Amino acid sequence: MNIKRNILLNPGPATTTDTVKMAQVVPDICPREKEFANLMNELRADLVRIVHGDQSKHTAVLFCGSGTINIDICLNSLLPAAKKVLIINNGAYSTRAVEVCQYYGLPHIDMKLSVFETPDPLEVDRVLMENPDVALVYTTHHETGTGLLNPIREIGDIAHRYGAVFVVDTTSSLGMIPFDIQRDNVDFCMASAQKGLMAMSGLSFIIGDKEMIERSKDYPKRSYYCNLFLQYDFFERTGEMHFTPPVQTAYALKQAIKEYLDEGEENKFARHKRVNEAIHNGLSNLGLDYVIPRDKESGLVVSVKYPDDPKWDFTKVHDYCYDRGFTIYPGKISTTDTFRLCSFGAIDVEDIHAFFKVFKEALNSIGIKTHLKKND
Ligand SMILES: *Cc1c(COP(=O)(O)O)cnc(C)c1O
Repeated sequence: MNIKRNILLNPGPATTTDTVKMAQVVPDICPREKEFANLMNELRADLVRIVHGDQSKHTAVLFCGSGTINIDICLNSLLPAAKKVLIINNGAYSTRAVEVCQYYGLPHIDMKLSVFETPDPLEVDRVLMENPDVALVYTTHHETGTGLLNPIREIGDIAHRYGAVFVVDTTSSLGMIPFDIQRDNVDFCMASAQKGLMAMSGLSFIIGDKEMIERSKDYPKRSYYCNLFLQYDFFERTGEMHFTPPVQTAYALKQAIKEYLDEGEENKFARHKRVNEAIHNGLSNLGLDYVIPRDKESGLVVSVKYPDDPKWDFTKVHDYCYDRGFTIYPGKISTTDTFRLCSFGAIDVEDIHAFFKVFKEALNSIGIKTHLKKND
């Protein structure tokens, strides 16, 4: 089968391989069959392996939904009665976690920081010292809205010193930036299949500490569909999701994990880094500027400042590129006009070279002269 290959430079869903796409085409199967439960069991064990977890201590719990379902589930399920959440918030995705707390009426502290800076560990320590009722510390590893990477290992160490559970939204770093749930001091991490693992959307998972999930059995139940203990318990007893799983998406994830393990964590990280480097080179050749300093940037998202030219028109440039198989994405910073170029997915340096050729044409097509530097 000949499937058109699009280069997605948006922050997920990412460009997938044809083998992952085709893995969805399987004979119809009832997901209550043993054969499907076996697949789910393999996926759960594979996910624990990917984060270098300990199979006896850690577990992966799968859900049918996009990545935000994980944020919702962790917050509503892992907070004991009369305790508080601390959200270290320096971006759009931690703000989403604050909103989840607001919707459920969960007591929380919104530690709102600049979206351009990583948190000061001393400040986190001070807030925890002053608030002994915080039982859950939450942050985002890679703030996809900007490209900022947070120092989770340090924050996790502080959270644990105060006896709090540390939950990290790793949706846009897991499977791309090397991560070790134990070494990185994380109790619960999360992602969805369409991001770092380059599979299909519709399947999300939380990976974390079994004992902590078992302890949450008696915490207030704040959601029927989205409760971590209930889903975990059903998996443990039956090997199945409580409700209908995204069947074909699970087969695609199995294939994507095989390809992930074949490529290898370090090789894959190196590929994302060289794609990011090629993006920075392309921007610098065009004289375009970015927002997050390189030493604080994840290497997975570049937030590009709009060119300082009245002729600039994001939609026109987007449409020109889109028609030629390249997708660029708007920014998520309220104070600065940006668009984003991401290095997720099954792409490599030559795709970025091809993109910049088209991007330059797009700029020319709306009358922006590109002052290319030499060596282009
Ligand atoms: C993509 C993403 C999510 C989930 O977004 P969905 O649209 O629900 O898939 C959550 N957190 C981060 C950091 C993300 O990048």
